[in-house]
Amino acid sequence: MLLKRKDKITKSYDVIVIGSGLAGMTAANKLARDGRSVLLLEAHNKLGGFATWFRRNAEKGEKHIFDISLHGFPVGMIKTCRRHWSREIADCIERVDKIRFVNPQFDISTDFTKEDYIKILVEKFGLTEEEVTGFFKELREMNFYDDNSFKNADLFEKYFPGRNDVMRFLLEPMAYANGSTLEDEAITFGIVFSNFMNKGAYIFRGGTDKLIGMMRDELVSNGVDIKLHTLVNEISVEDGVTTGVKIGDDHISSKTVISNSSLHNTIFKMVGEKNLSSEYVEKAREVRINTSSCQVFMGLKDGESIPNVGELIFYSDSDKFDTELLLSPEAHSQTFSIYYPDMRPHLPQKYAIVSSMNARYDDWANLSPEEYEKRKDFIIEKALLTIEKLIPGVRDKIEHVNASTPLTIEKYTHHHFGSSFGTKFEGLEVSKDLTKEVTGLYHSGSVGIIMSGWLGAANYGVIQAHDLNTYLDKKNSEEVNHV
Ligand SMILES: Cc1cc2nc3c(=O)[nH]c(=O)nc-3n(C[C@H](O)[C@H](O)[C@H](O)COP(=O)(O)OP(=O)(O)OC[C@H]3O[C@@H](n4cnc5c(N)ncnc54)[C@H](O)[C@@H]3O)c2cc1C
Repeated sequence: MLLKRKDKITKSYDVIVIGSGLAGMTAANKLARDGRSVLLLEAHNKLGGFATWFRRNAEKGEKHIFDISLHGFPVGMIKTCRRHWSREIADCIERVDKIRFVNPQFDISTDFTKEDYIKILVEKFGLTEEEVTGFFKELREMNFYDDNSFKNADLFEKYFPGRNDVMRFLLEPMAYANGSTLEDEAITFGIVFSNFMNKGAYIFRGGTDKLIGMMRDELVSNGVDIKLHTLVNEISVEDGVTTGVKIGDDHISSKTVISNSSLHNTIFKMVGEKNLSSEYVEKAREVRINTSSCQVFMGLKDGESIPNVGELIFYSDSDKFDTELLLSPEAHSQTFSIYYPDMRPHLPQKYAIVSSMNARYDDWANLSPEEYEKRKDFIIEKALLTIEKLIPGVRDKIEHVNASTPLTIEKYTHHHFGSSFGTKFEGLEVSKDLTKEVTGLYHSGSVGIIMSGWLGAANYGVIQAHDLNTYLDKKNSEEVNHV
């Protein structure tokens, strides 16, 4: 049931899910299907978290619609959606046909499959088949519990020493997909890259609004109570066991809680150090937060069109690839997602272009309002200049443009430092261990790089829901035996 803003919740639930990102929603859906009573609370006015969209009216009153994080995800999302959502949702997932790289080192198009990547690495980059297949083999055989002192920089130095161009081709898409850097654990690159290289990159045909609408209907039909505009400020804990959540002064009671809020907010704002061991708090403090993003949204005038230049373009004007440079406010590197009318065939013909850049929160926080606007204008102009190079004449066809920054992310998702991709590697262990600190409490959402992105987040929702189910079964059978 969709609860109204003014509705007061007096019922007690098996599970309260805080936050409706893909992890929170997928966990809520699975648990409801498994027969649990579930309440899903979301601070924002719509479901989806980063899986979101917004509409803007152009001067002539025509509507533009922009997707925030619908650029590409691995094929595994089809299976996850089929199993834990519906066949209808899974059936809307289609492969992205053309991904392009444009930079001073190369201009290459690929369908992002392993076969095509190997072919390009051999034919265009002049590597031997043995070198390339050896690299792919190492990625495939990587084990999460292996020595994680082996970093991305070590991995590329081992297989392709001195080949900055090869590293760019292999690492740049992952750096955009989850904020990976050269200092990150190679296992995180290995897992995410192998997921993508399974069969290429995929997209949800119909747009994020359609996906989230279908997910909302599914949640409601499975009996989940949903309340938007509801910021949870506290997770109630009594004697080391969660008893529900607090919204303002109101307590809502539940046997278990899953927080899809960021790891930092969950631990330090909602649970509070007083309910946690000092060793755990210390470990949690050391978790590195991932970087943030800026985006520029461009909408074309009604009736205008552009040729098919690919759906995803990794563009850079930097001579060399460096993950640090990707974060520069000078916006040397941008990823363009181009949405052709077939993205939303049900709407009147409209094209949209979204440019995304990785960014540091600190470069945007603490600016004066004038400096902030100036910096925003700079990235808008840079995106327009670049897209004009890729599609000559497009600038005159664009009638709507605006930008988001790390502060926008912080505002809409409450994520600490506007993090786009949760935490670095060590966050996963801290997230998983939360339930050892507070019985009945689970965290789910972007952590550890591998549990981030649409697929990672949704799958982590399933994993945590499974553990929660086991706990509830045990608790319920203990209660029956006690009676
Ligand atoms: C610019 C950008 C582009 C991206 N592109 C891609 C892409 O192409 N492919 C891909 O796979 N991934 C992409 N991602 C990443 C992907 O979108 C995320 O990793 C994923 O959607 C995160 O899901 P999540 O479950 O962690 O929750 P989130 O999406 O982070 O949602 C958390 C939700 O919890 C709510 N919340 C937080 N605190 C509270 C509280 N106290 N009370 C109530 N509600 C609360 C928030 O409002 C939010 O709705 C992108 C991310 C960004 C920022």
